[in-house]
Amino acid sequence: MVPCPKRILIVEDNKVDVRLLKDILESRGYEILLTGDGVEAIDLAFVSLPDLILMDIQLPGISGLEVTRRLRSDKRSRRIPIIAVTAFAMGWHEREALDSGCDAYISKPIAMQGFLSTVESFLSRFPHESPTASLNSRSSVNEYPWRRDHRFGSA
Ligand code: MN
Repeated sequence: MVPCPKRILIVEDNKVDVRLLKDILESRGYEILLTGDGVEAIDLAFVSLPDLILMDIQLPGISGLEVTRRLRSDKRSRRIPIIAVTAFAMGWHEREALDSGCDAYISKPIAMQGFLSTVESFLSRFPHESPTASLNSRSSVNEYPWRRDHRFGSA
Protein backbone atom coordinates (compact mmCIF):
# COMPACT_ATOMS: atom_id res chain seq x y z
CA MET A 1 0.00 0.00 0.00
CA VAL A 2 2.82 2.39 0.88
CA PRO A 3 6.51 1.93 0.05
CA CYS A 4 7.64 1.64 3.64
CA PRO A 5 4.71 0.81 5.92
CA LYS A 6 4.71 2.23 9.40
CA ARG A 7 5.10 -0.43 12.04
CA ILE A 8 2.70 -0.52 14.97
CA LEU A 9 3.11 -2.75 18.00
CA ILE A 10 -0.22 -3.73 19.56
CA VAL A 11 0.09 -4.82 23.20
CA GLU A 12 -3.31 -6.28 24.01
CA ASP A 13 -4.43 -9.52 25.65
CA ASN A 14 -8.11 -9.37 24.69
CA LYS A 15 -8.57 -11.35 21.49
CA VAL A 16 -11.60 -9.38 20.33
CA ASP A 17 -9.77 -6.09 20.74
CA VAL A 18 -6.68 -7.49 19.07
CA ARG A 19 -8.70 -8.53 16.06
CA LEU A 20 -10.45 -5.17 15.84
CA LEU A 21 -7.28 -3.11 16.09
CA LYS A 22 -5.31 -5.37 13.78
CA ASP A 23 -7.98 -5.39 11.06
CA ILE A 24 -8.46 -1.64 11.10
CA LEU A 25 -4.78 -0.82 11.05
CA GLU A 26 -3.82 -3.43 8.47
CA SER A 27 -6.57 -2.13 6.21
CA ARG A 28 -4.84 1.24 6.39
CA GLY A 29 -1.56 -0.30 5.26
CA TYR A 30 0.25 -0.48 8.58
CA GLU A 31 2.54 -3.33 9.51
CA ILE A 32 1.31 -4.88 12.74
CA LEU A 33 3.20 -6.64 15.50
CA LEU A 34 1.17 -8.30 18.25
CA THR A 35 1.65 -9.49 21.76
CA GLY A 36 -0.56 -9.95 24.81
CA ASP A 37 2.35 -10.18 27.19
CA GLY A 38 4.12 -7.22 28.76
CA VAL A 39 7.58 -8.72 28.98
CA GLU A 40 7.41 -9.86 25.38
CA ALA A 41 6.23 -6.37 24.42
CA ILE A 42 9.44 -4.90 25.82
CA ASP A 43 11.59 -7.35 23.89
CA LEU A 44 9.61 -6.75 20.70
CA ALA A 45 9.93 -3.00 21.06
CA PHE A 46 13.70 -3.22 21.49
CA VAL A 47 14.15 -5.54 18.53
CA SER A 48 11.64 -4.15 16.04
CA LEU A 49 11.62 -0.45 17.00
CA PRO A 50 8.00 0.19 16.04
CA ASP A 51 6.87 3.66 14.96
CA LEU A 52 4.04 3.54 17.50
CA ILE A 53 2.87 1.35 20.36
CA LEU A 54 -0.77 0.81 21.35
CA MET A 55 -0.70 -0.23 24.98
CA ASP A 56 -3.45 -1.99 26.86
CA ILE A 57 -3.07 -1.23 30.56
CA GLN A 58 -4.58 -4.34 32.09
CA LEU A 59 -2.35 -7.22 31.05
CA PRO A 60 -1.55 -10.54 32.69
CA GLY A 61 1.77 -10.33 34.50
CA ILE A 62 3.22 -6.84 34.41
CA SER A 63 0.79 -4.04 33.59
CA GLY A 64 0.88 -1.79 30.57
CA LEU A 65 1.88 1.04 32.89
CA GLU A 66 4.94 -0.87 34.03
CA VAL A 67 5.75 -1.84 30.44
CA THR A 68 5.56 1.84 29.51
CA ARG A 69 7.80 2.88 32.39
CA ARG A 70 10.41 0.33 31.36
CA LEU A 71 10.27 1.40 27.72
CA ARG A 72 10.67 5.03 28.74
CA SER A 73 13.72 4.25 30.85
CA ASP A 74 15.64 2.59 28.01
CA LYS A 75 17.29 4.67 25.32
CA ARG A 76 16.28 2.23 22.60
CA SER A 77 12.60 2.78 23.17
CA ARG A 78 12.19 5.99 25.13
CA ARG A 79 11.11 8.05 22.11
CA ILE A 80 8.60 5.63 20.62
CA PRO A 81 5.12 7.15 20.92
CA ILE A 82 2.89 5.10 23.21
CA ILE A 83 -0.88 5.40 23.20
CA ALA A 84 -2.70 3.76 26.09
CA VAL A 85 -5.83 1.95 24.90
CA THR A 86 -7.97 0.74 27.73
CA ALA A 87 -11.46 0.27 29.07
CA PHE A 88 -10.55 2.24 32.17
CA ALA A 89 -12.14 5.56 31.39
CA MET A 90 -11.92 7.36 34.69
CA GLY A 91 -9.73 10.41 35.03
CA TRP A 92 -7.24 9.01 37.45
CA HIS A 93 -6.45 6.19 35.08
CA GLU A 94 -5.67 8.67 32.37
CA ARG A 95 -3.37 10.59 34.69
CA GLU A 96 -1.66 7.41 35.73
CA ALA A 97 -1.10 6.45 32.10
CA LEU A 98 0.41 9.84 31.32
CA ASP A 99 2.53 9.73 34.48
CA SER A 100 3.91 6.39 33.38
CA GLY A 101 5.05 7.88 30.10
CA CYS A 102 2.19 7.32 27.69
CA ASP A 103 1.76 10.15 25.18
CA ALA A 104 -1.98 9.83 24.78
CA TYR A 105 -4.92 7.85 26.07
CA ILE A 106 -7.80 6.29 24.17
CA SER A 107 -10.78 4.71 25.91
CA LYS A 108 -12.58 1.57 24.85
CA PRO A 109 -14.94 1.14 23.20
CA ILE A 110 -12.88 2.76 20.50
CA ALA A 111 -14.40 5.58 18.46
CA MET A 112 -12.93 4.66 15.14
CA GLN A 113 -12.48 8.03 13.49
CA GLY A 114 -10.86 9.63 16.50
CA PHE A 115 -8.69 6.57 17.02
CA LEU A 116 -7.37 6.63 13.46
CA SER A 117 -6.68 10.34 13.49
CA THR A 118 -4.78 10.02 16.75
CA VAL A 119 -2.70 7.17 15.33
CA GLU A 120 -2.03 9.09 12.13
CA SER A 121 -1.10 12.26 13.95
CA PHE A 122 1.63 10.44 15.86
CA LEU A 123 2.94 8.65 12.82
CA SER A 124 3.16 11.80 10.75
CA ARG A 125 4.67 13.81 13.56
CA PHE A 126 7.41 11.32 14.28
CA PRO A 127 8.45 9.77 10.99
CA HIS A 128 10.58 6.69 11.36
CA GLU A 129 14.03 8.02 10.54
CA SER A 130 17.33 7.50 12.24
CA PRO A 131 17.09 6.48 15.89
CA THR A 132 18.05 9.98 17.01
CA ALA A 133 16.15 12.01 14.41
CA SER A 134 13.20 12.91 16.58
CA LEU A 135 15.00 13.37 19.88
CA ASN A 136 14.52 17.11 20.10
CA SER A 137 10.91 17.25 19.07
CA ARG A 138 9.99 14.43 21.40
CA SER A 139 11.54 16.17 24.36
CA SER A 140 9.36 19.24 23.93
CA VAL A 141 6.33 19.27 26.17
CA ASN A 142 4.58 21.60 23.73
CA GLU A 143 4.35 18.75 21.28
CA TYR A 144 1.86 17.11 23.62
CA PRO A 145 -1.16 19.22 24.50
CA TRP A 146 -2.60 16.39 26.61
CA ARG A 147 0.63 16.11 28.53
CA ARG A 148 0.92 19.87 28.93
CA ASP A 149 -2.63 19.98 30.24
CA HIS A 150 -1.76 17.28 32.69
CA ARG A 151 1.38 18.95 33.96
CA PHE A 152 -0.04 22.40 34.32
CA GLY A 153 -3.64 21.56 35.05
CA SER A 154 -5.45 21.76 38.33
CA ALA A 155 -4.57 18.20 39.39
MN1 MN B 1 -6.30 -6.35 28.80
